[in-house]
Amino acid sequence: MKKQSVPLFDPGAIPDNLCPIATDYSRMLPGDWRSQRPVVDRRKCVKCAVCWLYCPVQCVVERAGWFDMNLATCKGCGICAQECPHGAIAMIDEED
Ligand code: SF4
Ligand code: SF4
Repeated sequence: MKKQSVPLFDPGAIPDNLCPIATDYSRMLPGDWRSQRPVVDRRKCVKCAVCWLYCPVQCVVERAGWFDMNLATCKGCGICAQECPHGAIAMIDEED
């Protein structure tokens, strides 16, 4: 019996704007799919920067009197709320 030939993978045949594994590239930030977001109580925040230290994606930003989160890149993991020693961060549902 004659063996069937299998076509070899030719990376040069894939257009530059297509990923060979998925389909095509689309820009998506965590703020587009997050289910919860952190809200800082400015009266409780003492600017200790613990949230800044623990945030895994470095989206905590310093304001004049408190620390805030960049909600475009925050993924809603809640670590900052867990670690804040002053209970200044609450996680709320995105629908609220
Ligand atoms: S950990 Fe809490 S108290 Fe400290 S800077 Fe962050 S929000 Fe403010
Ligand atoms: S919820 Fe997670 S990603 Fe968002 S600011 Fe807090 S630690 Fe960072």
